[in-house]
Amino acid sequence: MKIGIVGGGQLGQMMALAGYPLGFEFQFVDRTADIPAARVAPVLSGDLHDVGLLRALAEGNDVVTFDWENVSVSALSTATRGRRVAPPLRALAAAQDRIAEKRTFERLSIPTTRFAPVESQRQLKRAVSRIGLPGVLKTRRLGYDGKGQSVLRSPDDVDAAWTALGGVPLLYEEFVPFDCEVSVIGARGRDGSIVIYPLNRNYHADGILRLTLAPWDAPRLSRAAASYLRRLLEAFHYVGVLTLELFVCRGRLIANEMAPRVHNSGHWTIEGAVTSQFENHLRAISGLPLGSAAARGHAAMINLIGKLPPRRRLLAEPGLHWHDYGKQPRPGRKLGHCTIIEHSARNRTSRVRQLLTRLYPQLAVHP
Ligand code: AMP
Repeated sequence: MKIGIVGGGQLGQMMALAGYPLGFEFQFVDRTADIPAARVAPVLSGDLHDVGLLRALAEGNDVVTFDWENVSVSALSTATRGRRVAPPLRALAAAQDRIAEKRTFERLSIPTTRFAPVESQRQLKRAVSRIGLPGVLKTRRLGYDGKGQSVLRSPDDVDAAWTALGGVPLLYEEFVPFDCEVSVIGARGRDGSIVIYPLNRNYHADGILRLTLAPWDAPRLSRAAASYLRRLLEAFHYVGVLTLELFVCRGRLIANEMAPRVHNSGHWTIEGAVTSQFENHLRAISGLPLGSAAARGHAAMINLIGKLPPRRRLLAEPGLHWHDYGKQPRPGRKLGHCTIIEHSARNRTSRVRQLLTRLYPQLAVHP
């Protein structure tokens, strides 16, 4: 079976690496050919809104999927008419628009933040007086890793936030004084079967994911997160992997956003779960039975950002798994990750603390 993937970043690269043992072939489209996926499969390069380019991908492959969620839904829908595409474009459209996403959460009784659409400075002032301060102003579309957002703490911040972000459709929402951030990842197959991975506890700095611990031992929250994810998977008649990111605040979960794709917080599943998120995504979209999402131990995944540390020294660490995406170093850029699996959550914590102290002594991430 041939799989066409829109977007050839590290997620696409890891998808292909997971798919070769299953006998799949891959082709990517992306803006340039200088991308992580180019190391493992052919790439058609061009404008990702170009229906002709996307149609070439759809016609040359049995199923089309994506590793990037800002692809044009209308171009992809036109290009794949009469052909198989997964996850469903309805889910992609909802994930691209923070308002549609919040309304989906509300419709499915998934707790989320109070929010208001904002299109003018007057609307922003009204939203601030209704929802209160502090709050977060975000672009409705195209935000990622905390980009395109601004925290408002006092009425004096309103004008500056509007100047920074105004001019495009926005959303204002309450600021959640969260205790921590988690995500839950699951897959739904073409036959409606569902598997859900254990809960991930995520640590960010400057809006970028730095560390994931999984499974995170919080049985009540894990059950609630799995139930919310299941609602989304069923509501969209979803096929593929879906991720839901949530805040934990005073013992409650509050949904932040969903990603209709494999996710950085699920990289630990490559070595730490019976079936990786990448393999389960491929199994789902190709109509194969899903594999178990059970954990094999206590995993920690550290993102390698900006500059790769010396490989030789890290590989001397017992049981450390190294992933280099083959990208050019740049501040703030995700260049790779490493994963360790321990027999207990306690060992994992002490090991991760040691590793982080060595790798990123300045980083304000404290597991
Ligand atoms: P997002 O792009 O919505 O995933 O936001 C990026 C990061 O900003 C999140 O992982 C949080 O750390 C923080 N953040 C986003 N929205 C809120 C909020 N409403 N309250 C507090 N922190 C937030």
